[in-house]
Amino acid sequence: MTITMDLDAKSLDIEGLGLDMYNLIAELYPICRSITGDGVRKTLKIIQQHIPLKVHEVPTGTPVFDWTVPKEWNIRDAYIKDETGKKVVDFQNSNLHVLNYSIPIHQKMSLSELKEHLFSMPDRPDWVPYRTSYYQENWGFCLSDRTLQSLPEGDYEVYIDSSLEPGSLTYGELLLPGQTTDEVILCCHSCHPSLCNDNLSGIALVTFLADYLSRQTLRYSYRFLFMPGTIGSITWLSRNEHRVSSIKHGLTVSNVGDSGRLAYKKSRRGNADIDRAVIHVLKKMSQEYTVSEFSPYGYDERQFCSPGFNLPVGSLTRSQFGTYPEYHTSADNLEFIQTSALVNSFETYLNVIDVLENNHTYLNTNPKCEPQLGKRGLYSTLGGKQTTPDDRMAMLWVLNLSDGEHTLLDIAERSDLNFSTIKNAAFNLANSGLLKIYSSSAKKAVPVNSR
Ligand code: ZN
Repeated sequence: MTITMDLDAKSLDIEGLGLDMYNLIAELYPICRSITGDGVRKTLKIIQQHIPLKVHEVPTGTPVFDWTVPKEWNIRDAYIKDETGKKVVDFQNSNLHVLNYSIPIHQKMSLSELKEHLFSMPDRPDWVPYRTSYYQENWGFCLSDRTLQSLPEGDYEVYIDSSLEPGSLTYGELLLPGQTTDEVILCCHSCHPSLCNDNLSGIALVTFLADYLSRQTLRYSYRFLFMPGTIGSITWLSRNEHRVSSIKHGLTVSNVGDSGRLAYKKSRRGNADIDRAVIHVLKKMSQEYTVSEFSPYGYDERQFCSPGFNLPVGSLTRSQFGTYPEYHTSADNLEFIQTSALVNSFETYLNVIDVLENNHTYLNTNPKCEPQLGKRGLYSTLGGKQTTPDDRMAMLWVLNLSDGEHTLLDIAERSDLNFSTIKNAAFNLANSGLLKIYSSSAKKAVPVNSR
């Protein structure tokens, strides 16, 4: 078993990665997605140019726990024309203009009849809201309040060329096998149309994280899921119930491209390794962040953390859903996200994965009093480099707490040193024969292979 994997971002072309993520978002932005339909298929096809996603189709009507896979929705065109034949609202300009899951309609009606189906934001008169009606058949249009207020009395032609028919729900999945079958799951939602932060940013981060990890030697197996919100994770969980005992850590990924500070919402367990790993990484990143307790609202962690599963799945975002004015509006566009924020989020995820991958438990092979580090060349230099006071403290902490009872994350938390400093100390001590890895599952110490 390889004991030290450096998954920090040093070996990455960070600038190139930021552009790659941004460009993928820009490519996916115009596509009209929903919880089902061709927009999702087209999206997954584009992601397949980067990673070998497996695409699953689950037929309409399939029971999934207390829910049923809905009819499939597709849309080709939609508009509202005034009496002169001028399009006052046009789906071709923005897919947000149509209430997502609108049933087809082609009818003339008065402005007052029409207004019952129009949605705007009076407090943000130039923005178009994003609205859905997945589970109640309806039709509608979303438009800026400025356009709405400018509509004169008269008859309007309303046209929505959509279909709501038996079909299937589509989701994408990629499993990267590691040295163990224990899994880390990373999931993002693939159902939002032209919205960048929520959640094309999550799709882009997960895609390039999967691409990066596919080129590494990994301890855990990684499962990446691209699914529509709520119904997607319910569907996945109902089809994969036999698999969930392998899930050791998980995160839902969304809102990772805006300039807000990083925010972590804990899993329902509250003290799972994923909670501790993320909080440790955030604490050591010398930038502002927030941590909040679990609540049964938000993204798909709601399903993974339902009491029948109670999986260790948290949510690592930047600005949290519903807390920024651009959320679920046309202002969540390509200008709202930044490559620097995408990159910072990516590095944070990578640091968390580095903790999970390297969070071993060791045994001090020389536990009676401190071993003499100087005669082993460990005190003043490490790996050819001058040691820092933190390096020396890290070695002392690792030696002291490596009794088979403490993981490296335990030691990082207790010493208040960076996990990477603790990890490097453990690596060097192990190479000098002062530590051996402790396999708690086998209940015996196993020898350590050097890198
Ligand atoms: Zn959303």
